[in-house]
Amino acid sequence: MKKQNLAKLFAFLLIAVLLFSQGAVFAENYATRDDIPEEYKWKLETIYKSIDAFNADYDEVLKDILPKIEAYKGKLKSSKAILEVLKLDDQMLMKYYKMNMYAKMRLDINQLDSEAAELSSRVGYLLVKAGAAEAFIEPEILSKSDRALDMYINSSLLKDYKFYLQKLKDKKAHVLSASEEEILAKLGDFAKSPEEIYDKLTLADAHYPYIIDYETGEVEFYNPALMRSEDPEERKRGYEILYSSTADMQYGLSQTLISEVKKNVFFATVRKYESALQASMSSVHVPTQVYDNLIDTLNNNLDSLHKYMELRAKAIGFEKIHSYDMALPMLPSYRMTIPYEEGKAMVKEALKPLGEEYISMLDYAFNNNWIDVYPSPNKYAGGYSWGQYDTDPIILMNYTDDLNSVSTLAHELGHSMHTWYAKNNNNYRNYDYAIFNAEVASTLNELLLSKYLINKAETNIEKIYLLNTMINNMRNTVFIQAMYAEFEKSIHEAIETGAGLSADSMKYIWLEILQKYYGDNYVPEDFIALWPLEIPHFFMNFYVYNYATSFIAACPISDTIYNGEEGAVENYLKYLKAGGSDYPVEILKKAGVDMTKPEPIEAFTDLFDSYVKQLEQLMIEEGLIAN
Ligand SMILES: [Zn+2]
Repeated sequence: MKKQNLAKLFAFLLIAVLLFSQGAVFAENYATRDDIPEEYKWKLETIYKSIDAFNADYDEVLKDILPKIEAYKGKLKSSKAILEVLKLDDQMLMKYYKMNMYAKMRLDINQLDSEAAELSSRVGYLLVKAGAAEAFIEPEILSKSDRALDMYINSSLLKDYKFYLQKLKDKKAHVLSASEEEILAKLGDFAKSPEEIYDKLTLADAHYPYIIDYETGEVEFYNPALMRSEDPEERKRGYEILYSSTADMQYGLSQTLISEVKKNVFFATVRKYESALQASMSSVHVPTQVYDNLIDTLNNNLDSLHKYMELRAKAIGFEKIHSYDMALPMLPSYRMTIPYEEGKAMVKEALKPLGEEYISMLDYAFNNNWIDVYPSPNKYAGGYSWGQYDTDPIILMNYTDDLNSVSTLAHELGHSMHTWYAKNNNNYRNYDYAIFNAEVASTLNELLLSKYLINKAETNIEKIYLLNTMINNMRNTVFIQAMYAEFEKSIHEAIETGAGLSADSMKYIWLEILQKYYGDNYVPEDFIALWPLEIPHFFMNFYVYNYATSFIAACPISDTIYNGEEGAVENYLKYLKAGGSDYPVEILKKAGVDMTKPEPIEAFTDLFDSYVKQLEQLMIEEGLIAN
């Protein structure tokens, strides 16, 4: 993951862990952070040598740069003035993001660091001040005529800002009159209400899962073992308990989601977009065709997922799979133990097809404290890659000697290398890549690692384990996220077409999608209709499709690189180097993938299919299922 929308992603991961976890085991444990050798820890002084250096930047932004920016208000009447204010804005943003990163990194390695907490709150104050100071820039540029905007876009003076100005101009048709914009701006705070209420309900009012037997008065609390019980009634009860808190609040939760959808439709309509989907996609400069193509092409290729569900049923010995059977393990438990140094070597070997330059950069990352490797007391529990234009692209990990840790290492290195190539080949405005592009670089590394490990696995059992891990990863990241994307589109269309939306109609829409994706031998119970109410991403205005499209885009790229096809690595490096210098879909075309076309999605379902077939064959060979 790239460090963005962390809270939401963690809420999602928590649900994923509850439903799919195989149980993590902690290996290398250090009692204190001081016990961890220096080479496995960040060097924060590479960002700021001292607090004095941090304070100097802080004061410069607050007392010098912000007043200079504000002095341009009402004066953006020439290319020269626009250039000057944008340069000041760049300076301010670079310093702001660097300070923010420093404070957060310190907090993330020790959440009890009170000095870091104070720095972080000062940075928060600065953000408010900076936002207010620069707020006039974009509206003032957008108030110019189309002809004037074209002149700025083509001005040689503003060449570093060409694409930025072009993206700004793209918005112009949807900007309203000054007084209308003022009313919309005043709605801003109030428009956050559905999400705020949802967060309060799920984070504050939600209760620990339990059910009460009203006849006996007995209370039974959530117990994951129930969901793996041999008794189907117990499994079903296990799930009902898991969903109990959501069930108790289902009408309130549904209404918050309906309000969120109505809000999105309202803003899209007043801004003259054809749909809420179009409004959201155009804000990130991705055509809606990408979204529709994802759903339509997957819908045409669901056989692969149905076959997987059939194999799953065979493995657990049932004809039909009920929604309460999904936590039953398909395979005997298996664990690979991979200490960090071994994991590093594995990642380097697996990524060798990316060429010498890429591998030597990996060495540079390993040898220059980019990675904070091990868990320690009060450290943030998770993993991410994060970098700024003028810092190293660092990685936070909690490495625990298992396959998941090695995959995370490959994944986060994918993001860090992307950042490194992007910032070294672009000016400040053009370096930062879009969310749509971000997860391609990380997923590609995971795919190469997986191919490498499957190819060199020494036993059938190891290969079975690796294939099953990858298949689950593909199911969770692509199929399930696509189900969410389809649901999100349907509930918006229900409001847009006037069909209306209720708690019950949302359940119906979700169950139809679930049945379609999982196929005829899947039997959904009532509790599973509540699933969407546990997904905070539905308050992120068409976001989840990114997980699916990124993973899919990485599939054909990984194939060409793994097979050593001529030009594949060069094209991929062009993609990394492009950063955010063009529209996201165009940048992806540099790596040979067109996400408006069905082919990459078909390449994904073909890969999924071939993994399922290989898994089935090996399970037959090992006597885990009948032929
Ligand atoms: Zn990522």
